[in-house]
Amino acid sequence: MPPPRVYKTEAIVLRQRKLGEADKIITLYTPNYGKLEAVAKGVRRPKSRLAGHLEVLTYTSAMLAQGRNLDVVTQAQAVEVFASLREDLHRLSRALYTAELVDRFSPEGAEGYHIFQLLLATLRRLAEGAGADVVVRYFEMQLLNLAGFQPQLHHCLGCQRSLAPVPNCFSPAAGGVLCPSCGSGAVSSRPLSVSGLKVMRLLQKGGFGDVLRVRIGQTLAQEVEFHLRAYLIHVLERDVRSAAFIDRLRREGVVEPAGVAD
Ligand SMILES: [Zn+2]
Repeated sequence: MPPPRVYKTEAIVLRQRKLGEADKIITLYTPNYGKLEAVAKGVRRPKSRLAGHLEVLTYTSAMLAQGRNLDVVTQAQAVEVFASLREDLHRLSRALYTAELVDRFSPEGAEGYHIFQLLLATLRRLAEGAGADVVVRYFEMQLLNLAGFQPQLHHCLGCQRSLAPVPNCFSPAAGGVLCPSCGSGAVSSRPLSVSGLKVMRLLQKGGFGDVLRVRIGQTLAQEVEFHLRAYLIHVLERDVRSAAFIDRLRREGVVEPAGVAD
């Protein structure tokens, strides 16, 4: 549904880029209108009243007016700035990664209530100090669910049989799990341990509280991260085509906190 001529919306700021001398184009994620781009005029001037309310990762309440090309932010009031996140580079880099992933997965104008709530909950969890890796893995799997790209974790995508509780294989190209006989030699297929599959199922279907209750050792955490990353890269390459972001995922796993203040 297109927004009215002047409208108020809650939003999380995903990204900013410079426009002209003093303005910025702000990428917002909103519950009712999904992803929006809007111009924030004069925000690069030192006395701008808007600037502090439109920083990347801020949960803000904004007033927008429809413009000829892009909408214009006329007012903004920060609701949550997640100050503790900004003091910790480790958490900040993960928060920026989640915002970037939402940006890459969301076409402009698609309704985004559930993705908005997921991103907001994720930023709060990261700010409150919950285990950052678990928070991000849960976010990745839930975002895949909401965007319609959930990997198949219950039957073999080769022979369609239910998966036995034995080491199976995970194949991003197949879209999920393959049994040992279908998986051996299949393209991009990697071993998936019994515990790895259990954790991935929990990330997909469980609540965040359920995930927190499970003790996940380092090797298992790395295995799950490896499979989810490979799957995200595959989906982004095939369906979203986000080359620069994929390169960065490949190189370092999380984005660098550059661009927060620019
Ligand atoms: Zn099979």
